[in-house]
Amino acid sequence: MARPADLELASVTKRYGETTAVDSIDLKIKAGTYCCLLGPSGCGKSSTLRMIAGHESVSDGDIVLGPEVVNGLPPAKRGTAMMFQSYALFPHLSARDNVAFPLRMKGVNKVDRSIRATDALKMVDMERYQARLPSQLSGGQQQRVALARALVTDPQILLLDEPLSALDPFLKIRVRAELKRFQRELGISFIHVTHSQEEAMALADLIIIMNAGRIEQAGDPRSIFNAPATEFVARFIGGHNVIPAGDRKISVRSDRLHVSAGGQGTPATVREVEYQGTAVFVSLVTEAGLEMMAIVPERTFYARPFEAGDAVHVHWDEADIHELAA
Ligand code: ADP
Ligand code: MG
Repeated sequence: MARPADLELASVTKRYGETTAVDSIDLKIKAGTYCCLLGPSGCGKSSTLRMIAGHESVSDGDIVLGPEVVNGLPPAKRGTAMMFQSYALFPHLSARDNVAFPLRMKGVNKVDRSIRATDALKMVDMERYQARLPSQLSGGQQQRVALARALVTDPQILLLDEPLSALDPFLKIRVRAELKRFQRELGISFIHVTHSQEEAMALADLIIIMNAGRIEQAGDPRSIFNAPATEFVARFIGGHNVIPAGDRKISVRSDRLHVSAGGQGTPATVREVEYQGTAVFVSLVTEAGLEMMAIVPERTFYARPFEAGDAVHVHWDEADIHELAA
């Protein structure tokens, strides 16, 4: 087993001609962390990951893995391994030969290749399928083979670029739990790129939220959800209302809004009511034209239900107000 290592990015920049894809980011990821790089399409997540992997050169700054600056090292010499967005396995090779492939590239002899490939397949509980071709495996099983192929080189850090995007919603949730379990068992850091806030929340010890090549906020899921640093973060992670309040800007969680027919608060009209099972999503528009969303527990809602078009009041407690940075 490789020793888990800390990773540091110091003022790392990536330019493609005129485009600055990653703009001088600083980042520390302690060994053994499940880290998600989260942000909208084009914000620089994949570029960051590819620079860590060595598949892309660094325009400026340093990538430090363990005690070593690795900028100049080729991918195979870094102690990182990458699992790609489309985890396309070689269709004409068995699961075992697919997993053994990176070892063949490294010049490992045939006997050792076979032993290590079988071990890696064991790790992802796919040993009994090792003779099968990819076409004889389900999507989830192919994904595990791809994971074994990434792990067979004994990386200190595993890099995953949107690894769940090709899976159907049910499989996504199952494989996500498996990734988390593998990461815990291996004790190495996983750096997982996603544009899904739900995925990041479910998986990460550390979420890095990126926007336009910069880091907007880094922290554990709860601290980000409870204290989004900026308007961008509050909007991107969802579940928050961004409200202009005088010369400042505040956010209030959707599940902290109170909606009532009479009483006090800001007058608003119900736009839409969406039943979601455990809760009801009530979208509102205030007299001032501000759109808001209240998440009301099912029982509370049906004690006094509303319909689209109803005039209501919306209010929130002082304690639930969160200030956003300008
Ligand atoms: P993300 O993974 O967050 O969607 P990327 O890192 O792929 O973002 O891209 C960030 C920016 O860099 C985008 O504007 C994208 O168009 C640009 N970009 C990415 N790769 C290249 C490339 N090889 N050549 C030129 N521009 C690129
Ligand atoms: Mg990408």
